[in-house]
Amino acid sequence: MTPLIAPHMLALRPYEPGKPEEEVRRELGLESIVKLASNENAFGATPRVTEALASGHWNPHRYPDPRTYDLRSALGVHHGIDRDEIILGNGSNEVIDFLYRVCVSGDDHSVFGRPSFSCYQIGAIAEQLPHTAVPLRDRVHWDVGALIDAVAPATRLLFVANPNNPTGGYIGESELRRLLTEVPEEVLVVVDEAYVEFADADDFTPATELRGLRERLMVLRTFSKAYGLAGVRVGYGIGPRELVADLNRLRAPFNVNTIAQRLALVALEDQAHLERTVRATIEQRESLRAALSERGLEVAPSQANFLLVALPRPGREVFQALLHEGVIVRPMNPPLEDSIRVTVGLPEENARFLKAFDRVLEGPA
Ligand code: PMP
Repeated sequence: MTPLIAPHMLALRPYEPGKPEEEVRRELGLESIVKLASNENAFGATPRVTEALASGHWNPHRYPDPRTYDLRSALGVHHGIDRDEIILGNGSNEVIDFLYRVCVSGDDHSVFGRPSFSCYQIGAIAEQLPHTAVPLRDRVHWDVGALIDAVAPATRLLFVANPNNPTGGYIGESELRRLLTEVPEEVLVVVDEAYVEFADADDFTPATELRGLRERLMVLRTFSKAYGLAGVRVGYGIGPRELVADLNRLRAPFNVNTIAQRLALVALEDQAHLERTVRATIEQRESLRAALSERGLEVAPSQANFLLVALPRPGREVFQALLHEGVIVRPMNPPLEDSIRVTVGLPEENARFLKAFDRVLEGPA
C-alpha cells in the first residue's frame, strides 16, 4: 500500500519536548526527580490560581467563551491596546501554527534563526515552504544583518525569538529597531517574546513598545513561562487588527478552554507574584551561571530562565547520565550537540543539579 503520510512530512523531526518526570520515574524507577528541561517557572503560579481551581465554579457542561472576551479585555488593559489586536491560542505554539497556515502558501518563503525555537522550522516544512535558517553568530548571538540579508522577494514571514530559545541571547533595542525598520514592509515580522519577563539587560526593549515602527509586526507572548501556567496552555499574539481577524478565520471557536481563560486572567492580575518569582529566577540564573563558569565551562549569558552550557562531552551522554541521577535537563540537536540546556530551578534544585553534574563530569567519559 502507498504510505498515508505525505512525502514532505517525512522531513519533519517531531518536536522533542522535555522528558516528563513521570516517564523518568517509570523507566528508571527513581523516586525523587528534578525537572530542569522545559523552561517552566520553578516557583510556580500565583497561589490565587490554586484557589480559583478549588472554587469549583466551572460549569464544565458549557462551552467556553468563544471570543475569550474577559481575558482579551484584561490583556488589552495590561498592554494598553485594543482587545481586537489580540489573538489567543492554546499556547503561543498554536499562534505560530495559525501564522503558517493563514499567511503563507505556494512559494512564499520564511526566515528564522538557527539555533532557535524549532517550531518555526516545523511550520515551514509542514507547509512545504521554502525557508532560510540563519546561523547565529558563534551559535549564540543574533545576527540582525544576516537576518535582513536572508529576506528575499518571496519572504512573507520572519521569526525571531527575543530572548532566544535555546541560547538565552537577545536583540538589544537599537538592533531590534533596525530589524523592524529595514525588513521590507510586505514581510510579517514575528517577535516571539515567550521569555520577555526574564530579560533585564539595560538595552532590552520589548517589541510591544516598538509597534509604531512597522505595521506588519506580531508579538507573541505566553502564560507558560514566567506566569507559571505551562500545563494550562494559553498564549497570545499582538498584532494589527486586520491580521488578528484573518487569523481568527482559522481559529477553532473553543481553542482556549474555560479553565485556561479563567486561570490566565487570575495569573495576569497578580503582577506582584510575577515580579517576585522573576526576580528570584534571575538571581538563581546568575548564581547558577557563576557556579558553572567557575567549573571552567562555557555558559552563554542568558536573558531567559535557562542556561545553555557547552560541555567537553556529547550533550546527550551527559543528559543520559544526569537522568540516572534523577535530574532531567534538555539535550540539544546540531549545531549544539555538545551542549545541554538547563532551566533555572528552585535554589535546592539547582544545588542538586550541580552536585549530580559534578559527579557525571568526573565520571568515566
Ligand atoms: N516560543 C518559544 C521561544 C518557546 O520556547 C516556547 C516553548 N518552549 C513557545 C514559543 C511555545 O510556548 P507555549 O505554546 O507553551 O506558549
